[in-house]
Amino acid sequence: MNIANEELIGRVRTKIVATVGPACQAREMLRALAKAGVDVFRLNFSHGAYEDHSAVLDSIRAIEREEGVHLAVLQDLCGPKIRLGRLAGGTIACAYEDEFTLVAHSHDEEDPRRFSSTYHTLADDLEVGQNVLFADGTVAMVVIDRGPGWARLRTTLPGVLRSNQGINVPGGGLSVAALTEKDLADLDWTATHEVDYVGLSFVRHANDVIQLRSELEKRGSKARIIAKIEKPQALDNLHAIIAETDAVMVARGDLGVELDVTRVPAAQKFIIDACHHARVPVITATQMLNSMETSSRPTRAEASDVFNAVLDGTDAVMLSGETAIGAYPIEAVATMSRIATEAEELLFSRLKGGGVWTWSSPGALGAGNGLRVGKVAKAGLVRPVTESVVEAASAISRKLNARLMAVSTHSGRTALVLSKQRNAAPTLALAYDVETARAMGLFWGVTALLMPVLPEGVPVRAWVIDWCRERGLLASGDLVVGIRGSSPDDPTHNEIVVFQAD
Ligand code: PEP
Repeated sequence: MNIANEELIGRVRTKIVATVGPACQAREMLRALAKAGVDVFRLNFSHGAYEDHSAVLDSIRAIEREEGVHLAVLQDLCGPKIRLGRLAGGTIACAYEDEFTLVAHSHDEEDPRRFSSTYHTLADDLEVGQNVLFADGTVAMVVIDRGPGWARLRTTLPGVLRSNQGINVPGGGLSVAALTEKDLADLDWTATHEVDYVGLSFVRHANDVIQLRSELEKRGSKARIIAKIEKPQALDNLHAIIAETDAVMVARGDLGVELDVTRVPAAQKFIIDACHHARVPVITATQMLNSMETSSRPTRAEASDVFNAVLDGTDAVMLSGETAIGAYPIEAVATMSRIATEAEELLFSRLKGGGVWTWSSPGALGAGNGLRVGKVAKAGLVRPVTESVVEAASAISRKLNARLMAVSTHSGRTALVLSKQRNAAPTLALAYDVETARAMGLFWGVTALLMPVLPEGVPVRAWVIDWCRERGLLASGDLVVGIRGSSPDDPTHNEIVVFQAD
């Protein structure tokens, strides 16, 4: 929880995103999750009715008011996920080398050797030799023949298919639109609800993000965009996508189907590194504490996964089924928070420079991980003045062992750049509007407050000291490094101030 209370110092810096679902949508459960450490609640628009999402949103905003905190809400659009149509009898058992025909529309739903998909031109977009994966990659087929409106597939990885399960075509340049009719209808909902971030699924290129931005603007929504990286094309176009988006998600669920799963860790490091250099927040998502859907404790591998994502430089970590449908949602959040805290200890003691990871697409699935160490591929998107002021303030805070950093920020940008410095001193960010305060729920190490309206002559730094001293965050003699970020009225003015609690 982006909470402004006595937990600020010593609390976990890495932000936690929790997916809302039947296991946690009751108001008191949402409150308990926020208290356990959730900063961002994710509403998954692949499931659920508008009434349910609206009720959850109302609860979250009520909790904000009642607890005096800021919570961000992420509306995750379903996007052009291709699904199987209705299967004969509901399921089909596919044995090794069994053959099936994919058709545009299933006319004879009782034929167990034919099926269709929700993307009616899929068969026309496929090529002979291409792999088609079903049900999160648990069943695989290869295209052996095709004609207008149909494709013949042979099973290479046997398993059972059920109606409506997902279909992935790794590397496929499908002509499917970035925003489906359902997504556009969901954006009408966005326009009338207080959503902070919209997640765009299956992004392929920067234009997908530009298109979503234009749809949001058309509807008068100020929501920020999270580009979900889950397709190989998005990795190839990553820098251009990052230049257009507000935040990024390493969506490892679909990424691990679209790419050979052995390449996902390399892709994760590449994406996080690119976001770090472009000063864009990044979330690492999916299966982080998967076993906690049914167990009160994570596996060793899961603990390592969360820990390593923090060391990789992720700004936020995400829970999906663990909070949405799991038996231990609060324990999952608390566990994630504890692991991230451990990782941060190591991060602070080990912060080091060096090269950045770059990505080269080796083509065929599984042919090497594509990672090379190289030079920074792209200049940051941040004004050099902001960057320099933040670097200087961070150096001062390290040298003086400052207890706290405080920043005033109009757009959140200065706080974001500061967050990427990974300073040991936590950051108190004073925003001028509630939208910016909420959005900072994704910024590592940043606790957001609204800029107070002060009587004439009372300096903000005096207010910061009083506010922190009242909560036991600063003791007499503690140093604070403050940054006054530029404002729209005075775009070239930035200041660094150092002050001491009396
Ligand atoms: C993912 O694929 O990892 C992801 C987060 O997206 P979704 O849950 O929408 O499939």
